[in-house]
Order: sequence, then structure tokens, then C-alpha cells
Amino acid sequence: MKKYIAEIAIVKPLHNLFDYEIPSDHQEVSPGMRVTIEFGKKVVNGFVINIKESTELDPKRLKKILNVLDETPCINKELLDLFLWVSDYYHAPIGQIIGLGTPSYLRNGKEMLDVNFNEIYKRKDIKRRELELSREQLTAIEKISYSINEYHCFLLDGITGSGKTEVYKKVQEIVKKRGKQTLIIVPEKNLIPGLLQYFEDSKMNVLEYHSSLTPKKRFINWNLIQNCQADIIIGTRSSVFLKVPNLGLLIVDEEHDISLKNQSDAKYNARDIAIYRAKKNNIPIILGSATPSSETILNVLKKKYSHIKMRERINKKEIPSLKIIDMTKTKNEVLSGEVVRTIQDRLSKKEQVIIFLNRRGYSPLIYCKSCKWIPKCNQCGLNMTYHKKNKSLQCHHCFRNTQFHNKCMECNSDDISFIGEGTEKIEEVIKKEFSNSRIARVDSDSTSKKGQLQKIFEDIKSNKYDILVGTQMLSKGHHFPNVTLVVIMNIDQSLFSPRLKAIEQLAQQLIQVSGRAGRASKTGEVILQTAFPKNEDLLRLIKNGYENWVSNLLEVRKNLNLPPYKSWGVIQAKARKIYDAEKFLLKIKEKIINKDGVEVYGPMPSNMQKKANFYNLNLIIQSQTKSKLNSVLKDCIPTIKNIPYQNRIKWTIDIDPVDYD
Ligand code: ADP
Ligand code: ZN
Ligand code: ZN
Repeated sequence: MKKYIAEIAIVKPLHNLFDYEIPSDHQEVSPGMRVTIEFGKKVVNGFVINIKESTELDPKRLKKILNVLDETPCINKELLDLFLWVSDYYHAPIGQIIGLGTPSYLRNGKEMLDVNFNEIYKRKDIKRRELELSREQLTAIEKISYSINEYHCFLLDGITGSGKTEVYKKVQEIVKKRGKQTLIIVPEKNLIPGLLQYFEDSKMNVLEYHSSLTPKKRFINWNLIQNCQADIIIGTRSSVFLKVPNLGLLIVDEEHDISLKNQSDAKYNARDIAIYRAKKNNIPIILGSATPSSETILNVLKKKYSHIKMRERINKKEIPSLKIIDMTKTKNEVLSGEVVRTIQDRLSKKEQVIIFLNRRGYSPLIYCKSCKWIPKCNQCGLNMTYHKKNKSLQCHHCFRNTQFHNKCMECNSDDISFIGEGTEKIEEVIKKEFSNSRIARVDSDSTSKKGQLQKIFEDIKSNKYDILVGTQMLSKGHHFPNVTLVVIMNIDQSLFSPRLKAIEQLAQQLIQVSGRAGRASKTGEVILQTAFPKNEDLLRLIKNGYENWVSNLLEVRKNLNLPPYKSWGVIQAKARKIYDAEKFLLKIKEKIINKDGVEVYGPMPSNMQKKANFYNLNLIIQSQTKSKLNSVLKDCIPTIKNIPYQNRIKWTIDIDPVDYD
């Protein structure tokens, strides 16, 4: 009798598949099924990827599959092909991708559930009030509905408050009428409650999918979705891997947001996978943003995507004007006199104010005045940030953290100087200056408990706060009708950052946070405090707006031959000894350097040269085409695996990097 061999992936960062014999009483085994196998000395679950008739494995070492867990594949063909493509494109082990793309209960061998939406959830007893659509909304919906039955990528480029969500909703309704499901992907889970509220009503089954759900809930929702029990699924980046049998529409909201990219393990970008998936399924996809990324704009220019613009706010208000305050002209104050006066004015009108800065903690740098001691992280070599509330010094790069009681750790002096400010310090300054106002601080320290952030957002909306001090958590997607003033501070570092996407992200952030002001019936105002009021990027952005700014950025990138005009892959090596990392990357460079169609730069120190006791070096591989880049990197992996000291090195490949260290 013929032997059949299954190639099996294990949920571990291993690049290989493993051959096992299919027992003769289990000939039904097929790709996408879960099996148990003996792996080393352990019994583990694995996923069947391929079936073949022979193996190069020594017959004496060939083991049999112990048990088959599924009657039909729990990963269908579409999803398995997607996992394989992602693994290939990002050079990440297939097992790792399956790990990221499936609920833990499934990987642990739990039986699939035959569940029904109504058994578990109840639809919200809400009747949606029908809005009268704006002219721009109508046009957008019409354009998209022309391609409702085929692949087409739409960039819905709508300024903040132009009503993009309503466009999603209307297109989703068309898709639902055809019996199909809509998957909406957002960059951060705290954007989900707002969207749930928008979509939940008595007519739709709406499900969420993200890491804050308990493993059990995740598994239930995963099963409901694969049983076609959801009309709308709203989730974070890993939802791009959901098994949605009747997928009819993909939406990626805030497509420019780098949180759509996974930064650890497999460095996939959910937006790009979603586009691939839409193509494979021949369905439309909408990328929504008020500040589209440069790569997406380039794809519009290349006519790969259709550009739908919405340039009017629903409330007909102008986008708030941005005003620059030159901080070199003020006397060392944290808030300029003009900002204080403007805040005062807004408070007297019972309106709300946002103060935005992207730095948590009290102060990013402290030193002892008597012995000049500066606390540095001994693992990264960088300054530690002082956090007043929990009396600690924290490294914001590796999370090292020590207690600090305002005494120098070298000479015990208590003459400590605190330089610069984070959200904690600003909160303190504001409390002193506006002692009668109610202040909320919104950053990852103040909102670490479950539900805390949502509560703050609700309290902001019901006017329980006057002033909100916070990081980018405040800037994303939220709708606070009574905010009329946004003050932006502390952005100067990003103006000069060496990171590839830093300036683009800053521009997006400025527009996004400005968009929080004046969304309802009152006109908004934005003030930016900077020591570089003549900075060209700032001036162009303010004078000409984002669209013009980003097309200028593309010009610059084109002239410099940089992404998005070129494709990049970064191989990063981390090692305790810098020499090991360097030798390792040079070996890879040797292998690539003479290939046609690619250029190699490095090894060079990363932006974070040392992190958590490891030195980081990068090798940048640049190519005109993604397929060339892919094949060259693929050729490298055997070389890498043959480098004898590779166990001293942690290496990763980052394709289309957005923010690598
Ligand atoms: P965006 O995502 O483009 O910034 P939203 O979708 O959040 O904007 O819409 C802003 C606000 O306008 C929301 O409160 C939404 O309910 C409301 N809105 C959207 N479209 C309409 C409409 N046609 N008529 C009235 N209100 C609308
Ligand atoms: Zn000292
Ligand atoms: Zn550190």
C-alpha cells in the first residue's frame, strides 16, 4: 500500500516543515487540518500544510502522525494559501504566521464550535436613523458600488469629520444585501468601541476580534465568523487572518497608521495583506484616511488605486487653522502666555481643550546638580524617564525600571534637576495654572487597566473634563464634539529624526490631532509650540495642507531614490557583542552584493544602537521591484542558517519597514 507523507508546521519560529507519515486508517488527512505528533520528546499539535508521496527522511526516523483532530480542515484553502503567501513575502516561518493568525484555543486542539449568533449575543435593539448623505458621500458610495463584485482598491481620502464611517456603512449594507460579509480592520483596539456603536443595530450581526477578548471569547467569535454568523467584523491587525467564508468587502481604516504593522515576530502589514486578500478573493477594498501614507498616494499616482476625495466636513466647518508659536521667544516657560490666554478663553466658554505631546512620564531627563549624575539604562545606555506618580525611573526602550526617591543614586544629594516635560509634568503645570478645571490625562500609564480608556473617552464626551492632556492615544479617530482648541507641544525631536518615516508620521499626527478640534458646531483652533517656527516642513504643511505636503515628500523621495520608489528589506542582527552582529551581516552582504537589481547598504548601527543589552546592526537591501527583493532575500536564508555562530545572534527580516530601530 502506498504511503502518504504530511508536511507539518508547528507553531514555533521554525523555518522548516516536518515530514510525518499518515497512518493508513487516516487517509482523509488533508492540508489545513490539525494533527498531534511526537516532536522531539514532546507531543505537540501541528497543522498539515502539504501532502506528498515521498520523503527524503531516513525511513527509520519517519514517525507517524499520532492523532487527527479535525474531520474537515479548520484552515480552509483560501486561508492556508494566505498564510503561505505571508510567510513567503515577509520571510517569516509559516508556523509563526499560523500562530499569529489563529486563536489559541484552536492551536491547543479545542474542538471547533457549531455556534449560532443568537445563542450567544443579542442584536442591539437600535433603529438607525437614516442620515441625509452629503454630496461627497453619495459620490463615494456610487463609485465604490460600481465595483462591488470585483477587486478594486479605493483610497477614501477624506478630511477629519467628512463622514467616512457613513460611507463604510452604506457600502457594507449593499454587500450584506448580497449575503456577504464585511471585515473592517483598525490600527488600535481602542478605536473598536466607537465603530461598534456606529454599526450595531437591530439588523446586523456585528462581532469584534482583538487581543483584549478572553481566549474563550476569541475562540467563540472566531467560530461564529467562520460559520458565517457575522455580517460585520471589526478587529485589529490580526483579524486580517480571520476565516471569513463569504467575504465581500474589506475596509482598512486609518490606512496610514503604522500600528497596522506588526513590529515583533513576523513583521507583517495588515493593510498590505488585506489588499492581497481582496485581490485573491476578487472583492473591493477601501483604504480610509485623512492623511494617506506616501506609499498609498504613489499607488494612486500609478493608477493602481482609485482616489476618492472628501474635502468637506459634515458640519461645513473649515478645518481648524494651525498657528505656530515661537518658543525661543518665550522665557523658558512650558506653556507660552498666548496658549495660557487662549485656554482661559475656551474654558470661560465651557469648551474643551486638548494638550497633545508624545511623551509619557514626568521628565525625560534628570540630573544631580552636585555630582552631575544622569540615570541611564544599563541595558540600552540611554537616559531614563522620571515617573513621578510611581516614584520611578523607567527606560522607555526596554522597560527597565527602578525606584527613585528624589535622591541622587551616586552622592545622595537631593538637589535634582528635572529637564523637559512629559504628560505627568504638563498635567501638574495645568493643574497649577487652571486650578478650577477638571483635567484628564490620557496615556498608556493612566489607562493601563481594562475599560479605563473607554471610560475616560465617554466622560470627555459628556463634558466631565475641561482639559485633556495626552499622547497620540487622544489623536486617533475619536470624535469629541466640544473640543475647540488643540495645543501641540514637544514635536521638535521628530522634525530631525533619522527614521525613514519620522517626518511623514509627524505630519500625519499634526493633521490628525488638529482634526480633533471643531468637529461639531463650533470652529476649532490649533496652536503648535516649537523652537523651529521656520522649519520648511511645518510651514508647507500649514500653508498648503497635507495633500500638497505629501506630494512634495514624494518628489523628494523620488530624487533621493528612496521608498516608496524603491522597495526595502532590512535584515537586523542583534548580538551581545557588536563584532558578532557585524561579522554575521557582512557574511550575508557578501552573498547579495553581486546580484543584479539590488543594492546593499551597511552593516550600520540602527537608530537604537544598543537595546536591552543587545547591539543592533542593520543591513538594508534595496530594489526596484518587490519580487526581486523577495527572491534575493529568500536565497539568503540557507546562508544565514549555515552561519555557525548564529545561535549568538537574533536576526529578523523586515520587509517594507515603517519604523525599525
Ligand atoms: P471621519 O471618520 O471622516 O473623520 P466620521 O465618520 O466620524 O468622520 O463623521 C463625523 C460625524 O458626522 C459623525 O458623528 C457622524 O455620525 C456624522 N455624520 C456622518 N455623515 C453624516 C450625514 N450625512 N449627516 C449628518 N451627520 C453625519
Ligand atoms: Zn549626585
Ligand atoms: Zn533600557
